[in-house]
Amino acid sequence: MRVVIAGAGLAGLSCAKYLADQGYKPILYEARDVLGGKVAAWKDEDGDWYETGLHIFFGAYPNMLSLFRELNIEDRLQWKSHSMIFNQPNEPGTYSRFDFPDLPAPINGVAAIINNNDMLTWKEKILFGIGLLPAMLRGQNYVEKCDDKSWSDWLKMHNIPERVNDEVFIAMSKALNFINPEEISSTVLLTALNRFLQEKSGSKMAFLDGPPPERLCQPIVDYIKSKGGEVHLSSPLKKINLNEDSTVKNFAIKKDENQAEIVADAYVSALPVDLFKGLIPKRWKGINAFSKLEGLNGVPVINIHLWFDRKLTDIDHLLFSRSPLLSVYADMSITCKGYEDPDRSMLELVFAPAKNWIKKTDQEIIDATMNELTKLFPSHFLGDHPAKLRKYKVVKTPRSVYKAVPGCQELRPNQESPINNFFLAGDYTMQKYLASMEGAVLSGKLCAQAIMNKAEKLQNKND
Ligand SMILES: Cc1cc2nc3c(=O)[nH]c(=O)nc-3n(C[C@H](O)[C@H](O)[C@H](O)COP(=O)(O)OP(=O)(O)OC[C@H]3O[C@@H](n4cnc5c(N)ncnc54)[C@H](O)[C@@H]3O)c2cc1C
Repeated sequence: MRVVIAGAGLAGLSCAKYLADQGYKPILYEARDVLGGKVAAWKDEDGDWYETGLHIFFGAYPNMLSLFRELNIEDRLQWKSHSMIFNQPNEPGTYSRFDFPDLPAPINGVAAIINNNDMLTWKEKILFGIGLLPAMLRGQNYVEKCDDKSWSDWLKMHNIPERVNDEVFIAMSKALNFINPEEISSTVLLTALNRFLQEKSGSKMAFLDGPPPERLCQPIVDYIKSKGGEVHLSSPLKKINLNEDSTVKNFAIKKDENQAEIVADAYVSALPVDLFKGLIPKRWKGINAFSKLEGLNGVPVINIHLWFDRKLTDIDHLLFSRSPLLSVYADMSITCKGYEDPDRSMLELVFAPAKNWIKKTDQEIIDATMNELTKLFPSHFLGDHPAKLRKYKVVKTPRSVYKAVPGCQELRPNQESPINNFFLAGDYTMQKYLASMEGAVLSGKLCAQAIMNKAEKLQNKND
């Protein structure tokens, strides 16, 4: 059975992989000349890689981890110590750590919080612990119901001191969805906290050992091809053509200067939600599953790469900057084997929230970033012999993952659409891991499953 998939991000690749596993023939069309979508990366003129985003893999990513196992590339994940490390803006150049001991969950998480005395007082820790109990005890159903509140409102309702928000959750909220706690749905934070506190290695982090298109996406493509599937780059979906009964007749795909009408038994959009919205056929616009997508909108984010003339840190981990302009960052010359440099640092930083910055010039963004870094590390950038920025790269994504504000959960569509031969994959579709790499991989798997469940019906129709 032939399945045509548009979009070779992690969702489209995962969908094709799991279809190929079951003997289906997936044919994947990607608009760009690079695999991976939001994990895409490119080489600059010196051969250095720059990426759409700094990407972290978590222990709480079961579907992503089994994908690595199935592809036999598990050794490409570089696991770090089980810790969360925060900059201390009030004591420049210093860090505060939450170290998770080798104990069962949630004891390891509780111990990590109890043992950190730099950021929260005892009273704040106790009030936070009590406030979190309903989420831990009442599970995911409760967490889903909290989608009507922002994280700031949820904290207030549970009498959790404002300082807990300022010290810990501004950084976490920006790391999870590139927005602040007043905007983000409490479902996002509670989902992450539940995974982190209920699974022993849930918050353990890994970096990929090199650029995602080469080290993760290409092995998926090789696997798909080895099973008879096809993957075509530079081949955008231009139009979804319909039959009289409003099912899909074909996908119009542009290749070079030509347009081909590709016919299959089933059709999948693995496009980001913003781009899919622009391709929804007129006749589908009144259908609730499609019209409600209007409420899902990509959030802007900027990924920055700074190459310095010397080593600035010796930390082999992700860092939460706690700067108002920046989110997480890492010294990739240490954390990532493929970008290793024993003498000079390459900092990769996520700049968020980026709403007021996305239209500014690269130079303005770099100046603001260097200003923030000077506040965090005055000893490196002030004085007689300051560190020199050798070069930089700014990657802007004006519409990245959907902005997870309150009320979004009920707008997220299922992988099986109301159209009989049309399916959706993508991190924005309904699955329990929100907008993440894990969410994208799971959505692809669920989409493949939905197609398989309907296979008999789909094939009969085309006989
Ligand atoms: C800066 C940044 C940092 C991030 N950090 C993390 C992290 O640390 N951990 C984590 O888990 N997640 C992180 N994410 C989120 C993660 O990258 C995404 O959730 C995930 O990669 C989305 O995958 P997707 O396949 O759903 O969508 P996409 O990756 O957007 O893939 C969609 C694909 O469709 C293609 N396409 C578009 N239009 C067409 C068309 N007309 N025809 C054919 N193809 C088309 C696109 O080119 C793209 O390849 C981060 C994202 C960003 C931007």
